[in-house]
Amino acid sequence: MILVSSCLIGEPCRYNAKDNLNVKVVEFLKNKDYIQVCPEVLGGLETPRLPCEIKGNSVVNAQGENLTAAFNLGAEKCLGLAKDNHVSLCILKESSPSCGVNSIYDGTFSKCKIKGMGYTARLLKENGFSVISEKDLK
Ligand code: SF4
Repeated sequence: MILVSSCLIGEPCRYNAKDNLNVKVVEFLKNKDYIQVCPEVLGGLETPRLPCEIKGNSVVNAQGENLTAAFNLGAEKCLGLAKDNHVSLCILKESSPSCGVNSIYDGTFSKCKIKGMGYTARLLKENGFSVISEKDLK
């Protein structure tokens, strides 16, 4: 079973109510079993919502509101789904504060990326799941 970020397969669940449809991911999932998740929706956030970035030990939105609890909740729910469904691979959207695998935005809302992981990607990895981004997909 594969766990995939919902926006990568066309779900309009991004902060701006758009998707990140990725043809390579869709092609890879053909004839495979998968579950789709959007950690931010699972964490109780609305779509559309203000963009969020990781700043230090917190996640804040563009107005400075601390949304760390929602991001932690979304991550915990995804971990539960990964465990319940015996997931063998997670394909997550690069650079998101939830799903980023290799990079995230730097917390200044100025489109600058730094090395780092989103909350859900990190929790899944810490619990032994294989986690890649759409950019790692060969
Ligand atoms: Fe996509 Fe993940 Fe952001 Fe949801 S939280 S919109 S699945 S990148």
